[in-house]
Amino acid sequence: MGLLTIGAFARASRLSPKALRLYDELGLLPPARVDPHSGYRLYDPAQLERARLVAWLRRLGMPLAVIRAVCELEPESAAREVRAYWARVEADTAARRDLAAFLVDHLSGKDSTMSSHHTTLGIRYAVLSDTGSVRESNDDAGYAGPRLLAVADGFGGGRHAGEAAIEALKPLDAGVPGGELLSALEEAAHRVRESVSALAASDPALRDVGTTLTAMVWSGSRLGLVHIGDSRAYLLRDGELFQITHDHTVVQSLIDEGRITPEEAASHPQRALLLRAVGGGSAFEPDFALRDARAEDRYLLCSDGLTGVVPAEEIRRVLASEDDPGRAVRELVALANRAGGPDNVTCVVAHVAEQGALTSA
Ligand code: MN
Repeated sequence: MGLLTIGAFARASRLSPKALRLYDELGLLPPARVDPHSGYRLYDPAQLERARLVAWLRRLGMPLAVIRAVCELEPESAAREVRAYWARVEADTAARRDLAAFLVDHLSGKDSTMSSHHTTLGIRYAVLSDTGSVRESNDDAGYAGPRLLAVADGFGGGRHAGEAAIEALKPLDAGVPGGELLSALEEAAHRVRESVSALAASDPALRDVGTTLTAMVWSGSRLGLVHIGDSRAYLLRDGELFQITHDHTVVQSLIDEGRITPEEAASHPQRALLLRAVGGGSAFEPDFALRDARAEDRYLLCSDGLTGVVPAEEIRRVLASEDDPGRAVRELVALANRAGGPDNVTCVVAHVAEQGALTSA
């Protein structure tokens, strides 16, 4: 069978000539031959399958560069790429869904400090940071106050970056009106970024400093969460433990894309590689979230020095059984050290209670 004109090929592939010309211009589906005299595009019937694949992938919203790569692959590898692409879309949609919910609450004035059906909640809290059993210095930093909880795991220059990040957040501990939680958090996140870049610029030895940051700010019975990197926040509610942050690591994205299992991730050579962080040449794209707190909730913020070696079930048991936040952080740090303490470890624990029920811990 000979070459087809663009019109015949368009009919056969159910694509418009306009789409085919576009795919040609984008380098996705060059014609088999272009007539040197007339400039007419001629297609090989064998190109039909690729034409349909390109059309489907474009309907998925896949970027052109990815389509080009997928078209060059064997079907099995192409299937893996499409699956991975879709996992990224879903993760991105989930993050946007949370932001949309956040904005709906924000714009509809759902502000617990103003509404009567919410009791004002407060927290009892404790923080403990430890060098661990192997490292020579502690590059983690932690903070706990009446309205601010934070953990930062610094890298590339001692403990400076983590401390600078937390220092930049501290004004939030003085209190933020509920309706301004989103903007206050975003502004604080930018102050964090500026102070870490100022630190990097201050000394050639600190050029590569950076830090993770996971922090919560309370306003009435709402809390705002800002998160970047691989430190984590957990919620213990009704006896169940929920991880409420998503690690910004290479291995987590490999898990999300179905390329490795969580078990394989635990021993993956690149498990410490961050996709996002404050400074250190990583993308500054913090996650923001707004949550409703309930009396009896318990929160844990921790660096990967805890979660790298202590199983989630152990963490759940300590959070559920220790009624004193101070004892809980000591117990968690002790567990990390008993498991070898290979990294600095920082834990912040907060117990939520109605204001009236709060007594000093
Ligand atoms: Mn660490």
